[in-house]
Amino acid sequence: MHEVSFVDGKFEKIEGSERELPADLVFLALGFVGPEKGSWLEELGVALDERGNLKRDDDYMSSVPGVFVAGDMGRGQSLIVWAIAEGRACAAGVDGYLMGSTSLPSPIPPTARPLA
Ligand SMILES: Cc1cc2nc3c(=O)[nH]c(=O)nc-3n(C[C@H](O)[C@H](O)[C@H](O)COP(=O)(O)OP(=O)(O)OC[C@H]3O[C@@H](n4cnc5c(N)ncnc54)[C@H](O)[C@@H]3O)c2cc1C
Repeated sequence: MHEVSFVDGKFEKIEGSERELPADLVFLALGFVGPEKGSWLEELGVALDERGNLKRDDDYMSSVPGVFVAGDMGRGQSLIVWAIAEGRACAAGVDGYLMGSTSLPSPIPPTARPLA
């Protein structure tokens, strides 16, 4: 195995970090690596961002009007609290789109990131 660093939204191998770990069984629990390409996303024609996630505007709407994106699919692999907050904010975006305005809470913008 080797170690990686996360720089500018990409994993990078740390040279010289290779090492062998003796094991009888290796179980790989790999996380979300991005929206599946070549699928219904292409049929919808939604645009992707530079990291391969779905692009969305400040109201969580994708490049296709009426199609909204919240959680890992827009943010990339993340944590459940972000998905919950985005889901609530996205609901406000959908409500505003359908009703013309909304009084639903919108806890975070799609661009919110953890404080360093
Ligand atoms: C192994 C692992 C461990 C994790 N551990 C933690 C942790 O300890 N703490 C933490 O906070 N977060 C953890 N996370 C991250 C957390 O699970 C995600 O950030 C969160 O689940 C994202 O929520 P979501 O609603 O955006 O996406 P998801 O929870 O992935 O939900 C997307 C849903 O869409 C469904 N779907 C996909 N394609 C289609 C389709 N074509 N049609 C219909 N449905 C579809 C999927 O089946 C899924 O049910 C972990 C993630 C992984 C993979």
